[in-house]
Amino acid sequence: MKWHSTGGSAPVSIDTAILAGLAPDGGLYVPAQLPSLDWRRWGDHNPLPTLAEFAWQLLAPFFADSRLNFNLAFCERVFNFPMPLHHLQANQYALELFHGPTLSFKDFGARFFAACLQGLSPQQPRTVMVATSGDTGSAVAAALHGLDPIQGLILFPWQQISLRQQKQITTWGDNIRALAVRGSFDDCQRLVKASFANRVWVEQAHLTTANSINVARLLPQMIFYAYSSVYLARQNHVPINFIVPSGNLGNVTACYWAKAMGFPIGQIQIATNANRVLSDFWQTGDYQPRPSLPTLANAMDVGNPSNLARLRAMLGDWPAFQAAVDVAAVDDEQIRQAIKTCYEEYQYLICPHTATAFHRLQSVAQQQVWVIAATAHPAKFEQILEPLLQIRIPVPASLAAMLAKPEQFEMIDADLGEIWGR
Ligand SMILES: *Cc1c(COP(=O)(O)O)cnc(C)c1O
Repeated sequence: MKWHSTGGSAPVSIDTAILAGLAPDGGLYVPAQLPSLDWRRWGDHNPLPTLAEFAWQLLAPFFADSRLNFNLAFCERVFNFPMPLHHLQANQYALELFHGPTLSFKDFGARFFAACLQGLSPQQPRTVMVATSGDTGSAVAAALHGLDPIQGLILFPWQQISLRQQKQITTWGDNIRALAVRGSFDDCQRLVKASFANRVWVEQAHLTTANSINVARLLPQMIFYAYSSVYLARQNHVPINFIVPSGNLGNVTACYWAKAMGFPIGQIQIATNANRVLSDFWQTGDYQPRPSLPTLANAMDVGNPSNLARLRAMLGDWPAFQAAVDVAAVDDEQIRQAIKTCYEEYQYLICPHTATAFHRLQSVAQQQVWVIAATAHPAKFEQILEPLLQIRIPVPASLAAMLAKPEQFEMIDADLGEIWGR
């Protein structure tokens, strides 16, 4: 299977696409064509395979020409935590993607990416550089920790992520270097991009990135939508609709890919926070990247979503894009209200990101089957949820262990010299 760059340069193999992250022409890698799978092969009556086995069957065609030993054991190492479907009411569900080591869906992509990197070149020293708006950094740090000679270099915007998110980035040490940047997520992302533009650094540090521009992050995310759609479609005999809380648009791109592979997925709704760059583009066809605004759903505070290039490559440019996509921006007040309503009606706790999807769920057709992607554990956002709901949220054991460790990080200005020396 070949991967094209949205920048137009020659197609490459999956291995090259993973090791490069961003294409040398500055574009993002997209599949030349997606393999199609008949989901009915999983039968009506057999129990579904385990998540790891399903992932292996789905992803094997993508790795047919890879040097990786991509087998069931590989998937069992990555997908080693549960992905429960929580029933909200009638035909409505929350797909809990937050049971990995750092309690967000980013663990799936980060663990898969780390396993690919290690499998492709186990002896090669590398620096994996990541800008994080909250959850990517911790997931990548957890996945890379202890994988010497790979180094993790994690940039997060100082005071713009939750204290628990920060702890999950800064308590690793060893091969993980955490940098608190005086600036926004966009500044962090700019520093990563600028580092990649410097061939000397790229070659000396063997720089690669684990941001959601890397295809190894996106591929495993297809499993969420594929697996749960097959599970629910077998019971309901209708296509399954999804609402995806979105920022950089990596997660929802994977949902579109799963649909294009033939999985029983109906409508896909995108929920963003008050960063309206996507909803404005959708309405007007005019794409205006802008500085990100801080919101309650901080992991979605993105002013220039990278994976839009992939969605446009797949769905066409505006107005075709407008016809193919359904997006709405959800502001902080609506997020608060959604958290409250969900708790009062269903005694179910959702994080502020999941709340953007829950907000949209309240206006879908009741007779259809709808699933919201629950992207992070509510306990990561106790500073928002506890005063709002007047409750104490129990802390999961894995998080409690991290909270007890000392932090190690460097404070830097949004300046490349501070990272690489002058
Ligand atoms: C990263 C993140 C998102 C947004 O996902 P994208 O792939 O960037 O669109 C949503 N919710 C949570 C909790 C996240 O960490």
